[in-house]
Amino acid sequence: MPDSTTAVAVAAARAAADPSGACGPASAGWAPPPPLEPGELLELDRRHVWHPYAPMPGTSEPLVVESASGVRLRLARPAYGRRELVDGMSSWWSAVHGYNHPVLNEAVRAQLGRMSHVMFGGLTHEPAVRLARRLAGLAPGDLEHVFLCDSGSVAVEVAVKMCLQHWRSLGRPRKRRLMTWRGGYHGDTWQPMSVCDPDGGMHHLWSGALPVQVFADAPPSGFDAEPDEAYLAHLRETVGRHAGELAAVIVEPVVQGAGGMRFHSPAYVRALREACDEHGVLLVLDEIATGFGRTGELFAAGHAGVTPDVMCVGKALTGGYLSMAATLCTPRVAEGIARGSVPVLAHGPTFMGNPLASAVADASLGLLLSQDWRAEVRRIGDGLRAGLAGAAGLPGVREVSVLGAIAVVRLDHQVDTAAATRAAVRAGVWLRPFRDMVYAMPPYVTGDEDVARIAAALCAAAREG
Ligand SMILES: *Cc1c(COP(=O)(O)O)cnc(C)c1O
Repeated sequence: MPDSTTAVAVAAARAAADPSGACGPASAGWAPPPPLEPGELLELDRRHVWHPYAPMPGTSEPLVVESASGVRLRLARPAYGRRELVDGMSSWWSAVHGYNHPVLNEAVRAQLGRMSHVMFGGLTHEPAVRLARRLAGLAPGDLEHVFLCDSGSVAVEVAVKMCLQHWRSLGRPRKRRLMTWRGGYHGDTWQPMSVCDPDGGMHHLWSGALPVQVFADAPPSGFDAEPDEAYLAHLRETVGRHAGELAAVIVEPVVQGAGGMRFHSPAYVRALREACDEHGVLLVLDEIATGFGRTGELFAAGHAGVTPDVMCVGKALTGGYLSMAATLCTPRVAEGIARGSVPVLAHGPTFMGNPLASAVADASLGLLLSQDWRAEVRRIGDGLRAGLAGAAGLPGVREVSVLGAIAVVRLDHQVDTAAATRAAVRAGVWLRPFRDMVYAMPPYVTGDEDVARIAAALCAAAREG
């Protein structure tokens, strides 16, 4: 339906395309549309907009966020008396510097004035090159080749494709299965789904459709727990037994995120590295949630002193500004692929290397490294631990664990998400409990008082969920 906004936009686009500038300034006359009234917005949302893991039409009422700044989300209208919520989730691990950050805003704005996007086939640009150089420099070992893509799930797809193609190119096409351990999460597209936890990942819904992968038992819990010899043997044995058909082992190192929020000993990651080396299997570490300091090391693999053959990063990569992820690999993996009859990696998303996302990612990593991020992550972890000191004694609480800037309160029952969320919002905090837990991973810029508030909200959510 053509309206005056469209007419103005068309005129502005023509003006921008006219190098003489004869049509006047490109932005003349354009104004953002008037805001929707919250009730109307929610009605349209329910009718048209699909939300994560939600039915259509929607059945639960989301909170409407009007803006966000620092660590606070501002709601369009108050919920349980709160107009502002302290964000305990970093928008799913991503907004590590908080919202509306002047440095990141400026990085996007500066890039916006040059170009928002150009295709990456046959063209390249400085933001992507800078970002790739930075990632290669930060990553452990010789992970020096970088494939920039749109999302974490796609980064995992690319990792899988790299590994399978590596073996195909070396004349070993039978090596095409993946091994992982239970309790993991690697994304919602098809290959990643096949290595998600088979119970939590709804494998029963897809039996007969998903590729069938090799699953080891879930790693025993506890970052500091003494490594379990029987489990180490189980890992080695599983890799050895399936080596002839395995392209790669793929796991989340040290912290299993959306598959159940469990921490394990870095010794298990080391054992996988050794078994993969011994049996000629590639090791993929999915650092999409754990990367960029969240666990107290820049990458969680650092706790284990391990370099994978392929590594996926995403989530915090752009500081939560734009969707981008990356798959890094070693020269050995790349050389294997190059030796095949099809020597190219046959993958090329339309928005590969997006300049806006690359620019803000490079700025976000620069911002992270310019500060003592280790101290900030430790401070937040200490604050969460202190605030949760009494939580283990609450009725219904099974276990409380904190690692880096991540806190998990595990319950002895399925959480009532609505009740737990309501309790957190009443306490002025945004949390998103699921399964049998309430958990938080705050932005690194969260001040001490707000960390205490998040811990109190975790307790309230655990009590009422
Ligand atoms: C979130 C996540 C993914 C998927 O990333 P998306 O950007 O949501 O596609 C993959 N692996 C891990 C470990 C994750 O936490």
